[in-house]
Amino acid sequence: VAAYSKTLSWRSTQRRQLIDITNDILDFVRESRIRHGICQVSVPHATAAILVNENESGLTRDFLEKMEALFPTQGPYRHNAIDDNADSHLAAGFIGHARTFPVVDGSLVRGRWQNIFLVELDGPRARRDVVLQLIGEQ
Ligand code: ZN
Repeated sequence: VAAYSKTLSWRSTQRRQLIDITNDILDFVRESRIRHGICQVSVPHATAAILVNENESGLTRDFLEKMEALFPTQGPYRHNAIDDNADSHLAAGFIGHARTFPVVDGSLVRGRWQNIFLVELDGPRARRDVVLQLIGEQ
């Protein structure tokens, strides 16, 4: 069994933002030289998440508007007594911090409309990390 890991970083410019990281993950899979295995994409943050869906400008706005509808920026949040970002934690918790994909014949297996996004929920931030790990056989 082989393992290959890497941490990539992005800067965010909005409080809530979808950053398409698909191409960087495809590069990571290629350079790993692992042919068959599992690729995990994970964020080590409590107010960021990983989302998989279509990168279409109307739809990415729909996602951001749905996040505001489900997790309004302002609300009667207990966490805001010590911080000002309860909505960010809640959205991150429900979207999830990681996604996994099969790697078959050296390629990440995903649907044509499945792009991979780093979701900023409490930006802007100078640095958001995404930890990539691929485990399998070469
Ligand atoms: Zn907080």
